[in-house]
Amino acid sequence: MPFSALADVLADVRSRIDAAVARGGHGQTVEIVAVTKNHGPEAAQAAWREGIRIVGENKVQEALDKMPLVDAPVRWHLIGHLQRNKVRHLDRFELLHSLDSARLADTVHEFGVQRGRPVESLVQVNVSEEETKGGFSTEQLPREADRLRALGGLRIRGVMTMAPLAADERTLRRAFSGAREARTMLRAAGHESADALSMGMSGDFEIAVEEGATLVRLGTILFGARGAAT
Ligand SMILES: *Cc1c(COP(=O)(O)O)cnc(C)c1O
Repeated sequence: MPFSALADVLADVRSRIDAAVARGGHGQTVEIVAVTKNHGPEAAQAAWREGIRIVGENKVQEALDKMPLVDAPVRWHLIGHLQRNKVRHLDRFELLHSLDSARLADTVHEFGVQRGRPVESLVQVNVSEEETKGGFSTEQLPREADRLRALGGLRIRGVMTMAPLAADERTLRRAFSGAREARTMLRAAGHESADALSMGMSGDFEIAVEEGATLVRLGTILFGARGAAT
């Protein structure tokens, strides 16, 4: 049976999440997004058997290839950068985590209008302003938040961030609390459905949950190191 350790790993992860919620004091509900990139369909199926309901992929094509092979009604989230020429594939995803530029927002909005149903999206913020990562800086966000209000083809459901890799705890906390403040800002700007906070990966999810994460995106800790794409 593939991923035979998953039940034990998830029991451990879930208790660490509960403890982190208690320490953080935000009282939120946390859902795990199982990131199955570079693993075959059996990873998503194993996750489903253990009670996971959301599967995250960072590449559209890999997700599209995998979807018909996964024999479980998981909800698919797109967590990686989306190229504007692939926006039509958003029909297959429940949530876009990575709305990372004004140009992408315009294209996704047009798609949402065209299909007659807004695209549920998280605004990606880049609190630490790493040049290698996409997303809006804290400085850009207020203006974009105002602009997004006019884009009826989008429904802003919250904020996503990626913390710098291998950062110390203080830097991580600053990134995660900055994302939380970005969510407050979006809500104050009239995005009333902006309640989600997608942050935390295998190496930093406990700190993210302490800072209020509602969606943690976990790959390696659940499925092991990633091999070549299948
Ligand atoms: C791969 C990936 C994750 C999961 O990372 P792990 O460290 O393997 O848990 C989370 N978010 C995004 C955007 C990713 O691409």
